[in-house]
Amino acid sequence: RTMAALDSDLIDCRACPRLVEWREQVAREKRAAFADQTYWGRPVPGFGPVDARVLILGLAPAAHGANRTGRMFTGDQSGDVLFRTLHDVGLASRPTAVSADDGMQLFGVRMTAPVHCAPPQNKPTIAERDCCARWLDAELALLAPTLRSVVVLGAFGWQAGLRAFGDLGWIVERPKPKFGHGARTVIHRDEAELAVFGSYHVSQHNTFTGRLTPAMLADVLRAAAAHAGL
Ligand code: SF4
Repeated sequence: RTMAALDSDLIDCRACPRLVEWREQVAREKRAAFADQTYWGRPVPGFGPVDARVLILGLAPAAHGANRTGRMFTGDQSGDVLFRTLHDVGLASRPTAVSADDGMQLFGVRMTAPVHCAPPQNKPTIAERDCCARWLDAELALLAPTLRSVVVLGAFGWQAGLRAFGDLGWIVERPKPKFGHGARTVIHRDEAELAVFGSYHVSQHNTFTGRLTPAMLADVLRAAAAHAGL
């Protein structure tokens, strides 16, 4: 299966009843500021080239962000910080992402999430994460030939990501490396190795309080890009 075929199967997924109901309810009710827009309201596929060397792994689409625009991290404040910083370090073509057809290009970077549908309160359940793992597994398998670095945003993605790599036969340190900003671990499979970098999530809570500054995020992105030869 190609990435395009995977993405086209993904957007029809209705496996998690609670998330299907929520993503569609949000898309119907909308936020007043976006009342004239048609929300995507479906699973949001990964974004970026299929031969990416760096993968950014978030949490899940935001109700009025990616669930509205249909593109990962596009159209909300978390994404604003992420795209601006990617642009600052030379990995994105534009500093702002507003819609799926804004011309944004990522250079050697793909972004995805362990849960592809917007969850209430941005909190997927463990069962929903486990249900969505097959999509992450399939995406990682397609990216494997070129992938060298993974940047994981937040503890949820760190757990989900390491588990997904374990499912695909990658050897992860034991005990499992702890998440933190600047955490780094290397996982192995046969001759291949992949560096996994932790960053605090670009959530409003973290960026407004200064727990995560753009400089801190840029440091992790630069390290991941350097490791991947970008
Ligand atoms: Fe399907 Fe994943 Fe959405 Fe659940 S979260 S409905 S598994 S795409």
